[in-house]
Amino acid sequence: MAKKQFKSESKRLMDMMINSIYTHKEIFIRELISNASDAIDKYYYLSLSDENIKFDRENFYIRLASDKFARKLVITDTGIGMTKEELETNLGTIAKSGSLAFKTENEKKDDVDIIGQFGVGFYSAFMVADRITVESKAHNSDEAFIWESSGSDGYTINPCDKKDTGTVITLYIKADTDDDKYSEYLEEYTLKHLVKKYSDYIKYPIKMLCTKTVTKDAPEGEEPKTETVMEDEVLNSMVPIWRKNKSEVTDEEYNTYYKDKFRDWQDPAKVIRTSADGAASYTALLYIPKKAPYDYYTKEYEKGLELYSNGVMIMEKCADLVPDCFSFVKGLVDSADLSLNISREILQHDRQLKIIASRLEKKIQSELLAMQKNDRENYEEFYNSFAKQLKFGIYNNFGKDKELLQDLIMFVSSYETKLTTLKEYVERMKEDQKYIYFASGESAEKISKLPQAEQVLDKGYEILYMTDEVDEFAIRMLMTYAEKEFKSISDSDLGFETEEKEVKEEDTKIFDFVKEALDGKVVSVKASKRLKTHPVCLSTEGEITIEMEKVLNSMPGNDNKISAQKVLEINTDHKIYATMKEMFETNQDKLKKYASVLYNSALLIEGLPVDDAVAFTESICELL
Ligand code: ADP
Repeated sequence: MAKKQFKSESKRLMDMMINSIYTHKEIFIRELISNASDAIDKYYYLSLSDENIKFDRENFYIRLASDKFARKLVITDTGIGMTKEELETNLGTIAKSGSLAFKTENEKKDDVDIIGQFGVGFYSAFMVADRITVESKAHNSDEAFIWESSGSDGYTINPCDKKDTGTVITLYIKADTDDDKYSEYLEEYTLKHLVKKYSDYIKYPIKMLCTKTVTKDAPEGEEPKTETVMEDEVLNSMVPIWRKNKSEVTDEEYNTYYKDKFRDWQDPAKVIRTSADGAASYTALLYIPKKAPYDYYTKEYEKGLELYSNGVMIMEKCADLVPDCFSFVKGLVDSADLSLNISREILQHDRQLKIIASRLEKKIQSELLAMQKNDRENYEEFYNSFAKQLKFGIYNNFGKDKELLQDLIMFVSSYETKLTTLKEYVERMKEDQKYIYFASGESAEKISKLPQAEQVLDKGYEILYMTDEVDEFAIRMLMTYAEKEFKSISDSDLGFETEEKEVKEEDTKIFDFVKEALDGKVVSVKASKRLKTHPVCLSTEGEITIEMEKVLNSMPGNDNKISAQKVLEINTDHKIYATMKEMFETNQDKLKKYASVLYNSALLIEGLPVDDAVAFTESICELL
């Protein structure tokens, strides 16, 4: 077959590997062994549903072999193998692996970071090898193929002889340079050490023919002789990290396992290891990420935990183990109580699974709360990534999870303009304060300048700033926190005594006139108790606030526009009002224009579009 070119992204990544100056080139071994282990897993899954496949654990292993003279390192696995097409798509492109998405997102970052923190799969082998062959026979195929490449100029695929299902990868190790001693990757000692370091938990044996010194029995009186023999050794303990004693595993090992397994380049915000006995016995190893994965807020993201039965994986993504509101949690559950051949349908109704899921839910919540309390900075970093999810979780399913989530959410508040929990807000509430006040807008800064905020702040009450679309919906769903109701600062009744404005009959006439002039756009016009410096503002009556009107009307497919019941509040102490009074007597046509301009200005302050921009500007010019 003629040489084929790599897809451009793959070529880029490959170039990066070949010329890598990364000091931890050794991670290539971890990547290749993980792939081999995944391939065996895949074969194992198949055997669960296909009676023709006999999966006998004895026959499944990974083997390392080095040949110092030929400078070859060979990694063999007895996994599912690859067809010709799979060799082509899997090794000719890196389309589906997370590495590329990560790379394009972080284009400006140093290449070194990506290799070190993320791992780049198969291609990492080009850091230590200048030629690689991959011989593979897929489980359901009679033919075997060999893929070969000496670098970024392309690859070939040709038929080859291979009897057994599985894959053999041969790395032709680079020659040593002054700076890099590649030969060490051919040394038995180094390979043993690297497998222990990176792949100890791999659940299939990683075998290697190792040298061993044996002492021979000698006839009496003679010195015993030693002899060196070659013997098969299993290099890994095969005990998965979550089955080891807690005291045996370091934080760093948990973190490395996470990054490797769940393809994150950052340490997690929190590692949770928990187990239970009784109604359902299980061990769980859970991770709370710091940052949302690139596809988190898309439909592509699939939640779920790995499910193991006695150390053997039976499901890669068991969605039922985590609630939607905690869909960001990664990790695994190992339970001896689940039967191995369980089909996915049955699994969904499994009672044990439900018990485990509900325990985990509580555990995740309590760990997050502990983090919020004891490690605030870390929590805020996590929260900034997943706030939308938690708040949406409150709103979702008619508030089913609101109890679970209400203490986890935070808002920036007028007190110190930083994130605060509802609990902290309530603790700071003034003695005479009846409500939890909130206001919506684009940013904390803009909200704090709203005319409606003045009066509440002057009273010494704190305001929660809602800057996400979902915020008000979450708050509406909560309705109360610690028996305190939430109140929008644009509610026409703020719930505290203010000095009554004296409204004369003359004022009422003007208000009625203005309401009439606005032709149904507002439900009432009244003298404002809250305005101090601004001439007008809008408030609302009823359930729907102006912010909700905006969000609901911006939803796609919503043709029936929803309208909040708006109240135009006028500052009767303002100069403009004096002018209006005058006009009411002398020039009612002009007062109509005033009404419209003031109403539209109030809309603008709320961040709503004016009704008719041209007419609005014309009126202003005319009045000016
Ligand atoms: P990733 O592991 O992130 O998917 P890799 O570049 O390491 O990326 O591998 C690409 C794909 O090639 C794998 O997803 C897998 O389908 C296939 N593959 C790699 N190594 C093996 C192997 N030893 N046996 C079977 N398939 C393999």
